[in-house]
This record gives sequence, structure tokens and C-alpha cells, in this order.
Amino acid sequence: MGLREDAASLQDELALLRRELHQIPEVGLDLPRTQERVLAALAPLPLEISTGTGLSSVTAVLRGGRPGPVVLLRGDMDALPVTEASGLPYSSRHHGVMHACGHDLHTAGLVGAARLLSARRDELAGDVVFMFQPGEEGLDGAAHMISEGVLTAAGRPVDAAYGLHVLSSTVARGVFSARPGPLMAASAGLFVRVVGAGGHGSTPHYTLDPIPVAAEMVTALQAMVTRRFNVFDPVVLTVGVFQAGTKRNIIPDDATFEATVRSFSTATSAQAGEYAVALCEHIAAAHGMRVEVRYEQEYPATVNDADEYEFAASTVRDVFGPDRFEDLVDPMTGSEDFSRVLDRVPGAYVFLGACAGDDPKTAPSNHSPRAAFDDSVLADGAALLAELAVRRLAAPAGTSPKAPRA
Ligand SMILES: [Zn+2]
Ligand SMILES: [Zn+2]
Repeated sequence: MGLREDAASLQDELALLRRELHQIPEVGLDLPRTQERVLAALAPLPLEISTGTGLSSVTAVLRGGRPGPVVLLRGDMDALPVTEASGLPYSSRHHGVMHACGHDLHTAGLVGAARLLSARRDELAGDVVFMFQPGEEGLDGAAHMISEGVLTAAGRPVDAAYGLHVLSSTVARGVFSARPGPLMAASAGLFVRVVGAGGHGSTPHYTLDPIPVAAEMVTALQAMVTRRFNVFDPVVLTVGVFQAGTKRNIIPDDATFEATVRSFSTATSAQAGEYAVALCEHIAAAHGMRVEVRYEQEYPATVNDADEYEFAASTVRDVFGPDRFEDLVDPMTGSEDFSRVLDRVPGAYVFLGACAGDDPKTAPSNHSPRAAFDDSVLADGAALLAELAVRRLAAPAGTSPKAPRA
């Protein structure tokens, strides 16, 4: 039987595991109950398993029967601080915590891939590293796992890496979607405090009023985005926090605001920070004020290697048929810490439509309290991960997966 058929026979068990995880969501870097379920599911398999020290990660290595490269497959495991309103019978049992980004499907899907590949261990020419990662949602769990050695878990560096992300909206159920190059945005935070000198609202000339100066910065930042960056290498800057003052006739001492900055390359993300900091400093100086300004890089852009994207797309078409792959026209402006892996290792990140409703265009999106993911896609998700590993290992070491295979 092929991988796809084998995966189909695991569907019910994977859905069961996913629903169990869905009811016990955990947030952050420490996911003890989730880790326990993953370890139990992997226990019967011929894997070398280690767990994280600074976070509750699980790294499992499968040694193939023959020598060859190392492929990494990744699934994130953390939930979100959202109160579930999906109405599903297996909804979260923990108020205020929900698997609203579908990482419960990623965890179950990666367990499925580990089972499929373990059954084919002798045929594998190389090793597979399974990366079960906590803390994707803003806690940079991937960077923690990299610093704890996940990219050399097999004793030598990983050659290629793949991951899937389910979507509760946008993409039709069962359809895989990706694009070469930037897939998801880099994110950074801009934190600004304009320091003036407060006083009476009727006599501003005796004060240094920070409010118009901070407001000027907010609009100047938008001009910066449109005038200083190539429209084909876009930047999005949104001020989501702006705070100053207590009463209309009092000029406050300071004004603060915060922005999120999204871009699609490391260079542009760094440049946005450089320009934004200079802009705020010079506007403050022009008004005789001081400013404290900080630009913090969060996640880099998630960039698909062109060859690995082509390999993943052609594998989907080959295994599931041409209508099961759709090119993603535009990158998504969300961010993702699998970017940490793809920054170091060529690979591909692929979306998988898992919309539970009839119309992905109107269905609640990931992170919504009403987001619902159809876990009937689990078997195909697991089959794709396993198939990518099998085919990538079959490619001669050091060659691109597009090269003719031995
Ligand atoms: Zn998310
Ligand atoms: Zn996610």
C-alpha cells in the first residue's frame, strides 16, 4: 500500500488524538499535558526521543535503514488565550484557552507522519527528525528548540525542513497551498515614548506638549512606509496603542505609542527599524523634546526555498492530484516562527485548508473563538509530510530535490 492509503487507515486514531488535545489546550512554552500525550503516542515507535529543558518540546529521531541526508518535519503544539465559541462537542475544557490556530491538528498530523515513516524505516535512506514545538504563538519556541540543538538532533545537520499549517478559512478544505519565496511576514515592534514637560492646557507655551509631536510621528511613519520602501517589497506599519493625558486641560509629561511592523525580508525589516527610529528622534529634536524609542525584531519572514517549494508542490500534485494544490498569490501578513528553521535550512511551509464550514471565504479565521477545523484532513496532512521525507531522502545527498533521483 502507498503512504496515502496507509495514512487513511490511521485517520480515526489521529482524529481521536486531535480531539483529545483540543480539549486540553495549553498556552506558551510549557505544555506538560500535551507533551505527555505526544510521548505516549510515540512510545511504541522505534524513535530516539529527547525532551526540552527550557520548554516542553519533544524531539524524535528516526534512523533510516540506509545512510543519507537528514529531513526535519515540524508541528507546533501550543494553543491561544481565547475562549472557545465553536460549539463543537469536543470544545476546550479550559475556559480562556483554545486551540484556535489548529496546532492540535499539527501535533496529531506529525504523530501520524512518525507512524507512517516508522513503518518504512528500513527503506529510508537517511534520518528524520520530528520537531514537536511549544510556544509558536509569540514565544519563539522554534528559536529555543534550535538553541537546544534540534537542527543537529540526528548527530549531523538537517538538510531540509518541512511543515504544514491548517487554515480554518481562505483555502478550500483539503487543498494545499504555498508560494516560493516569502510566504509569511517578518514582524517587529516599535515602542515610542515622547518626553515633554506638562502644564496647564491654556498656556502651552510654558510647556513641552508631547501629544502633537507623537501624533506627527504617527503620520510621518505612514509617509515613511510609502516614500522610502519599494512597493514590491512592502512594509505594513500599524499603530495599535496610543496613550497620553488624563484631562482635556492638562498637558501631560509624556505620550507613548506602539506599532507592529510587518515586512517580507530581513533587510527591509532592519531598514524599517533604522528609518523609524531616526524619524522619531529627529521629529522630537525638531520640537525640542526627547524621545525614547525601541525597535524589536520579533520573527523573521517565513521564506520558502524556490526548489523546495517546487518539490513540495509537485509532490502534492503527484500524490493527491493536480486540483489539490493551489499557488498562493500573495504572502500572508501573519508571522510564524518556523521562519527560524527556514532561515537556516532550505525547506517549505505549506498551508492546508481545513475549513469546517461550507464557504472558506466567510468561515471564521484562525485565532477566532469560532474557528473550526475539519480534522478529516489529518490523514492527508500526515501522508504529505511522510511523502516529502521519503522523497527528499531518496534524492542524492547535496542535490536539490528537483534533480533526477538515483
Ligand atoms: Zn496562530
Ligand atoms: Zn499557527
